Amino acid sequence: MKSRSREEEHRLAAYFRGEIARLATKPVRLMEVCGTHTVAIFKAGIRQLLPPEVELVSGPGCPVCVTPNGYLDTAVAFSRQADVIITTFGDMLRVPGSSSSLAAEQATGADIRIVYSPLDSLEIAAANPGKKVIFLAVGFETTAPTAAATVLAAEQAGLANFYVLSAHKLVPPALRALLTAGEVQVDGLLLPGHVSAIIGEEPYGFLAREYGVPAVITGFEPLDILGAVYLLVKRIAAGEAALDNEYRRVVPPAGNPAALAVLDKVYGEADAAWRGLGVIPASGLAVKAAYRRFDALAALPVTVEETKEHPGCRCGEVLRGVARPADCPLFGTACTPEKPVGSCMVSVEGTCAAWYKYGAGRWQV
Ligand code: SF4
Repeated sequence: MKSRSREEEHRLAAYFRGEIARLATKPVRLMEVCGTHTVAIFKAGIRQLLPPEVELVSGPGCPVCVTPNGYLDTAVAFSRQADVIITTFGDMLRVPGSSSSLAAEQATGADIRIVYSPLDSLEIAAANPGKKVIFLAVGFETTAPTAAATVLAAEQAGLANFYVLSAHKLVPPALRALLTAGEVQVDGLLLPGHVSAIIGEEPYGFLAREYGVPAVITGFEPLDILGAVYLLVKRIAAGEAALDNEYRRVVPPAGNPAALAVLDKVYGEADAAWRGLGVIPASGLAVKAAYRRFDALAALPVTVEETKEHPGCRCGEVLRGVARPADCPLFGTACTPEKPVGSCMVSVEGTCAAWYKYGAGRWQV
C-alpha cells in the first residue's frame, strides 16, 4: 500500500467508507482479534469513519493480557530464588499477579532483566554460570519460533543454566473457544497479520466452514484495516462466509514453513489457561520431552502462592469482547496505565490501555 500516492489512498479510503455505509444496512459486530489492530484502529480514528451500524469489538489478541495470574505468580516465585535471573520483555514487568508483580520484586532486589530478544538471555546465561536464567516465553505464534530457536541455540552452546517458562499461546483455538461459547455475537473477524505470516491461511479455515463467520487476514495500516472491514461487510451483506487474505504482501497462504519447523521441533501443542477464557484445549505450546531440561517448570522446583483475581477487574470480559473498558468501574479511576489493576491496562496492545490513551473514557461507541 506504500506504493500508492496520497491522492490514491484518499480515493480508496473514501471508496471503502462509502461502500461500507451503503452495504451495512443492519447492525454488524466485527472483532479485531489482535491488540496491534486495536491500537491501529484508535490511532487512525477508524471507528469515527464507520457508520453506527458497524461495531468494532476487541478480542483476546494481546499476549500479555491473556496471560493469567497463575503464570505471573510462578514467575514471581522463581524471581524470589536467590540463584535465579529472570529475563523478560518489558510489558510483563508491571502486570499484577495475585499479590505482587515482577516490578515489585525487582524493587526489592530480585534480578529481573528486560531483554529485546530471547537470544539476549543466552548471553546473560553464559556470563552468569552460577545462576539459572529463566526467560518468560510469552506470546503468540509470532514470537514462539524465536523462543524455540533460542532453546536450540542454548543446546548448541551447551548452556546448562538456561530455561524457558512457557506461556506461548495459539490464536485459532482461542477463536474456536470464543465462537463455541457464543457469549459474544461476532459477525466477522479481522485476523492478525503477523500471526498469520507464521501460520498461513489454513488454520483459520474452520471459521467460515464450521461457524459460518467470514474472516479477513489483514495488515496494520489504516487502509489495510478499512479495506478488511469493507470486505467483511460485503461478505456479510451477500450472506457469504469465507476466509480472505488481504495481506498477501506479507502473509503467504502456507505461512512460514521454516519458522513452523523450528517451532515443531521444540514445542508441542498443550492445553493452556487464558485469562478470561479459562483452559482451552490444545491452545498453548509446551516444551517437548526432548528439550525438557530447558523447561523451567519441569526442571526446577518452585512453590507458587494460591492464585487470586483482582476484585472489580473486568479484564476477562474485555478479552472475551463482552464488556468494554468503560464498563469496568475501575477504568480511568483506580486503574490507569500509571497504576494498572489489570493486565489489559498494562500492555501497549491492551484494550483498556488503548481506550485510555486514545479516548480516556470518552469512547462510548
Ligand atoms: S480498566 Fe483495569 S481493572 Fe478494569 S478491566 Fe481494564 S485493566 Fe481490568
